[in-house]
Formats: sequence, C-alpha cells, structure tokens
Amino acid sequence: MHLVIIGNGITGVSCALAVRRLRPKARITLVSDETPHHYSRTALMYVYMGHLRPQDIKPYGDWFWPENRLELVHATATALDTARKTVALSNGPHLAYDQLLLATGSVSRTFDWPGQHLTGVQSLYSLPDLEQMHRHTHGIRHAVVVGGGLIGIELAEMLHSRGIAVTMLVRDAHYWGAVLPPAEAELVDLQLRQHQIEVRYRTGLAEIVGDADGRVRAVRTSTGEEIECQWVGLATGVAPNLGLAATCPALATDRGILVDEYLQTSAPDVYAAGDCAQLRQPAAGEVPIEQLWYTGRMQGETVAHTICGQPTRYRRGPWFNSAKFFQLEYQTYGRVPAILELGEESCYWQHPNARQALRINFRPAQNHAVTGVNAMGIRQRHEVWEGWLRTGTPVQEVLRQLGKANFDPEFFRRHEADIIRSFTQQLAALRTTH
Ligand SMILES: Cc1cc2nc3c(=O)[nH]c(=O)nc-3n(C[C@H](O)[C@H](O)[C@H](O)COP(=O)(O)OP(=O)(O)OC[C@H]3O[C@@H](n4cnc5c(N)ncnc54)[C@H](O)[C@@H]3O)c2cc1C
Repeated sequence: MHLVIIGNGITGVSCALAVRRLRPKARITLVSDETPHHYSRTALMYVYMGHLRPQDIKPYGDWFWPENRLELVHATATALDTARKTVALSNGPHLAYDQLLLATGSVSRTFDWPGQHLTGVQSLYSLPDLEQMHRHTHGIRHAVVVGGGLIGIELAEMLHSRGIAVTMLVRDAHYWGAVLPPAEAELVDLQLRQHQIEVRYRTGLAEIVGDADGRVRAVRTSTGEEIECQWVGLATGVAPNLGLAATCPALATDRGILVDEYLQTSAPDVYAAGDCAQLRQPAAGEVPIEQLWYTGRMQGETVAHTICGQPTRYRRGPWFNSAKFFQLEYQTYGRVPAILELGEESCYWQHPNARQALRINFRPAQNHAVTGVNAMGIRQRHEVWEGWLRTGTPVQEVLRQLGKANFDPEFFRRHEADIIRSFTQQLAALRTTH
C-alpha cells in the first residue's frame, strides 16, 4: 500500500506513525509546502520570545524519517485527481496513491480590510509567518493586534516580551467573549492590564493606513479612533484549508472537507482529518470542525486504523482545552459556555488575588450531573475530570472528591475548605431559589 499524506502537521504525522506501527511494510509519503520537517506549531511563540530555538520545536531529529521509512516531499500539492488516484506536485512528477489523507490544516481568516496588504500587516499561522513577524517587528515601538482570542493574546505576549507597546482591538464586550464567562474574562483582562496591554473592547478594525513606502503607519477603528503603529497582527480566527480540495469536484466540502465518522471523504480511499475536516454528523453538543492540537493527533491516529483495514469511528470524548494568558493558566473540560444554557447551573469560586478561580457547571434536573469545569490558575487532572464527565457524576460527589482532581496539593491544602464552603453555600442558595 502507498499512503500519501498531504500536510506534515500533528494530524499527518500522527497518522503516518500509527500506520507505520500497524503496517510495517507500507510505503508512506508525507508532502508539505511549509517546512521539510514536522514541528510543533503551538510552540511558535516561544521561538519569537527567545525561550526556544527553531530546532527545539522539532519533536523528531532529522534521522527519524529515513529510519522509519517515511518519505518527505517538500512541495505544494497543486491538484488532486481521485479517478486516477494521483496528486500533482508543484516541483516534480505526479504522486500515485492507494490511500490518501488530506491533513491540510487551516488558513488564517481575514476580512478584506482596506490596507491589509501593506507591509507590516500579517497573521501568525506558520513558520514563514513567524519569520516575517520577526523581520517586521524589529525595532518598532507600537503594534496593534486585531482579535480577542487565543492567538490575539499570544501575539500581545510575544510583542510585549520585546518591549513593544501593544493595543488590542476586541469586538466583544470582554476578552474571548464567545467562549469565556465574564468572570473568567475579567481575570484575563487583569493580566492584560498588569502587562500594560491596552485593550479597546467593542471595537473593530475599519482600515489600515499606510505611508508613502507602502508600510503600515496607523489603524482606524470602528469607533473612529486613529492609532499610530508600525505593525498590525490579524488574529481573527482560522478556517479549514480547502486549497487542494477545491481542485477536485469529487470531494464534497462545506466550511471544511466533509467526512463521515470514519473520517472518510466523499471520494473512495480519500480521508481528511485535523483542522481541515468537517464532521457531517457531529455528536450532540459537539462541534463539526475541531481546530486543536490534541484533536488533530486523535483524528490522525484514528484514521490510521481505518486506512489499515480496521474501520474505527472517531470518538473524541469530553471536550478539553488549555491555554496560558500571560501568567494565568487556563484549563477547561466538558462544556462551559460563555452564557449558561437552559437547565444548567454554575458554581464559581475566585481567590481574592484574582489569579485563581474554579467554575463547575452541572444540570440540576439530571441528578446534578457535572457538565464542565473551568480552572484558572489551578491545575486539574485530566483523567479525573474525564471520568466525572463521562459518568455524569453529581456535583455534590465531585465536591467531596475535589482534592483528587487537583494537581497541586499545596494549593488545595490551603484553599480546598474555602472552595467547598463557597460551592456548598451556592448549591444551598440554588435549592432555595428552585
Ligand atoms: C500560533 C498558533 C498557536 C496554537 N496554539 C495552540 C495550542 O496552544 N493548543 C492547541 O490545542 N492548538 C493550538 N493551535 C492550533 C493547532 O496548532 C492546530 O489545531 C493544529 O496544528 C492543526 O494540525 P493539522 O495537522 O491538522 O494542520 P497544520 O498544523 O496546519 O498542518 C497542515 C500542513 O499542511 C500543509 N499544506 C496545506 N495544504 C498543502 C498543500 N496543498 N500541499 C502541501 N502542503 C500543504 C500546510 O502548509 C501545513 O504545514 C495553535 C495554532 C496556531 C497557529
């Protein structure tokens, strides 16, 4: 079998490694136009900040690929012919495949703002983007970051680490308004203020203004303000990369490449996984497009089994995500929407220092089953929460065993009693209201 994988990100590489284990004799070719070797995209910011060198974010040494007989092709796949089972490459002969995995990732979204093509305006997705950011922020005084999500705050932290003043434009009334409840967003906002990041909430980008040399000189906001700056970071989300899929009418696409629960596309022997894939029928309460590192790995490993003749459904399990907002760590398990859903309740505890908080959501009508947790500045154990969420453990039982989920016994010795007291009072108050 010849397996061709387009994309050497976490999804493509996880699939390649799993297929190598399952089918020691298979021929496997990984094609990528970004970098010859896989690297950890999530660590890009640490290279800019000087914590890591570019070679440190390569999880495997150069010897690893020939040793595991993984053929690497550094090229753009320009066209796909599913009838002939071939992929055209930008710099060589067509590649014939028996099985094909599209793991083409995402592209940064922009919204055709006037001036977005000026020098000094860009998004951050790839290693070439990072190199460009490095060049264009050298020696500058002031930058504007557009967007109040995870990449927006990463950009702010990166620029801040080099002493560059940052203004963020955030369309919502608070940071990451579509995801974080206001109390948690307030803690992030405090981090931003403590790091001298200026934030304009309820403010969008209207126009980017250039100088005579075609370089950015300022932005105009939706509120009419002009902010002088020498660099603009566009962090307004990502969308599935459909570039290659669009060359092949046999592939059904919507926002992403449509796949069934086996990650099989509409074309025979063609699969799609990771950021570029869109599940036709996601499970109740789940999203059709998952754009996370660990879901890419899971999808890559799952599809490897199907490719090797062991049909396996993709089952993610309870949602999980983590991030760091400057010094504030954030973990979330299960579902904790920005606004409580009907039939859901929430208990929230926050330390007076505003650097630690815990929120637990549950459904009173379903035996008080926990539905999600947000932990800010407190580390929780993944496997413990996964078990509670899978089994719908009642919130009272979770409170009795809360120490089990905690990573930091010292923190819990000091604060567990306070957290339990506060949550018990909130539960009692809820009972009286109902
Ligand atoms: C700056 C940044 C920070 C992030 N931080 C986090 C984090 O902390 N936690 C988290 O869970 N997620 C994070 N993410 C998201 C996470 O990195 C992605 O979900 C994940 O990398 C997707 O993996 P993938 O393999 O599906 O796609 P990608 O990593 O995008 O890999 C796809 C590859 O395919 C290549 N490709 C596409 N089309 C072609 C073609 N036609 N020919 C050849 N090659 C092609 C692309 O150039 C790319 O190299 C972050 C993303 C970014 C941009």
